[in-house]
Amino acid sequence: MRNKMKSGWVLLLVGLLFPLACQAGDERKQLAFDVVDRNAAQMAAISDAIFFFGEPGMQEVETTRLLKDTLAAAGFRVDLGGAGMPTNLWAEWGSGHPKIAIVTEIDALPSGSQTPLEFTHKPLVEGAPGHMEGHNTHGGVASTAAFAVKQVMQRYDIPGTVAVSFGPAEEQIASRPFIVRAGYFKDVDAVIYLHIRDSLATGYGLQNYAAISAIFTFHGKTAHGAVNPWDGKDAVDAVELMDIGFDKLREHLRPTYRAHRTITNGGIQPNIIPDTGQIWWFVRDASMPAAKSTYDKLVKIAEGAALMTGTTYDVKYAASAWPQLVSKTIAEAIQNNIDVVGVPAWTAEEQQFARDFQKSAERPVIGLRTKPEAFGERRQATSSNDSGDVSWVVPAGLLTFPSSVPGIEYHEWHAAVTPVSSISHKGQVVGAKVLAASIIDLLTSPELVTKARAEFEVESKKTPYFSLLPADAQPPVDLNRAEMEKFRPAMRKFYVDKTPRFE
Ligand SMILES: [Zn+2]
Repeated sequence: MRNKMKSGWVLLLVGLLFPLACQAGDERKQLAFDVVDRNAAQMAAISDAIFFFGEPGMQEVETTRLLKDTLAAAGFRVDLGGAGMPTNLWAEWGSGHPKIAIVTEIDALPSGSQTPLEFTHKPLVEGAPGHMEGHNTHGGVASTAAFAVKQVMQRYDIPGTVAVSFGPAEEQIASRPFIVRAGYFKDVDAVIYLHIRDSLATGYGLQNYAAISAIFTFHGKTAHGAVNPWDGKDAVDAVELMDIGFDKLREHLRPTYRAHRTITNGGIQPNIIPDTGQIWWFVRDASMPAAKSTYDKLVKIAEGAALMTGTTYDVKYAASAWPQLVSKTIAEAIQNNIDVVGVPAWTAEEQQFARDFQKSAERPVIGLRTKPEAFGERRQATSSNDSGDVSWVVPAGLLTFPSSVPGIEYHEWHAAVTPVSSISHKGQVVGAKVLAASIIDLLTSPELVTKARAEFEVESKKTPYFSLLPADAQPPVDLNRAEMEKFRPAMRKFYVDKTPRFE
């Protein structure tokens, strides 16, 4: 009888302790959810303001000013302009380890200007840049989630650091190799990479392709095309021979490769032998060593083209990106939070809007997704994202949140119709909740971070990281500058004059 009672007590205690342990975690996450809900209007205000700034890569001046002010007012230490880029923003709160960072971007695209909620192409400013991928939402979600985590850390006295990295010019895969080289991630224990999508999802495995972007310029000697062509050395001949040479190589490359080019200087007029010719290449593959080996052959082809034409050449690094190595361990933790938070409760009007939009854009009329995407290993896409470099120096998870309409592809004006809609705002709320809860998991569960690190040690060693940056490479800070200067005055009248403050 006594023994029975005793074991009964033990069972009762175990039964009590486990829910208590869970409850503590649940309470902390509940507080984070409450903070996100309480700041939903602020989050929307940040994301909407960034939409109307519409700033492309390296020109995210107003965007980073808003984020800096907002995060500084919320108590974060803000480092703007690091790694040689005026619009590189790093913010953090807390001290020591674990140090968990959100990695995302806030740049718009050239010619992306569009009037929100219009189903026809109607730029706010004709020809101006704009958010036709919805990166504007990243600003709201990342900063609100970081603020929610900070509130929880303060209330529950949780040690560690929460950080946000807004990298410039993701659309030109132009900044992360520099941010990594500058050492920003050296003392970071784990990151979560954040991106808008039409679904609430995580996943794991290799995401995106490795990419190397380089500009080859040939230098020859000018002459009259009819009078003394024998005195000329035609730099555009070299460009053409390089193109033909690579086409001969294509047959002998592995089927996973991608390579594409554009001739950026093809001469002036036929009767002038051009002394300058230029061709800009992108070489990609499923892994960086594979892309690099194709790239090395491309350089040999340039040498050959120069030799054949008696010209010289130089090659300029333009950009590079590793595939993203996404941790299964962190993905599982994120998925648990996705299962708790779930997708937004869309109204009948929002579903109708989505169906009308899909119909008008001639996409499958399926409305908005009503459940999260199934969990699993993700297919590797052939596009590239420079946040990949981060994932080879620190364990990385991935979260996408449902702020766009299924079937509406990015990089065209349709995708700029909804980034400031209620669909976007509601997607941001669930995104910020899942993100905050997952960071709380990483901050409060040492075994999770240890397991992610152990997995990372195995997976990342399979392809040891090397930087593609030449030692003297500097970030392309003038990218999109002329375009922004041209359009900013006309865009300015759409700016929203708000100063969001978290509470
Ligand atoms: Zn993107």
